[in-house]
Amino acid sequence: MSSIKIIHRPAKCIGCRSCVTLAPHTWKLNEETGKAELIHGQPRKDCFVADLFECDVSSNQKAQEACPMNLIQITNI
Ligand code: SF4
Repeated sequence: MSSIKIIHRPAKCIGCRSCVTLAPHTWKLNEETGKAELIHGQPRKDCFVADLFECDVSSNQKAQEACPMNLIQITNI
C-alpha cells in the first residue's frame, strides 16, 4: 500500500509563512528558529518527513507551489 509523504528541507527556509498560511494542519512556524516546521515531521538526513492525509494533499500542493525556495516535496512511496 502506498502512502503519501511530505518532505521539507529546512536549511534554506526563509520563514515566509506561505506554507503555514496555506496548510495550517501540516505546518507551523518555529518562533525561535524563524523557520517553518512540519507538524509530526521525522528527521531524515537533511530533511523532515511526515505522513500526509489525502484531505491535506490539495492545500499542501498549493504550499509546494507557493514556497519561494522550493523546499517542499510531496511523494507517493
Ligand atoms: S513556504 Fe517555503 S520558505 Fe516559506 S516558510 Fe514555508 S518552507 Fe519556508
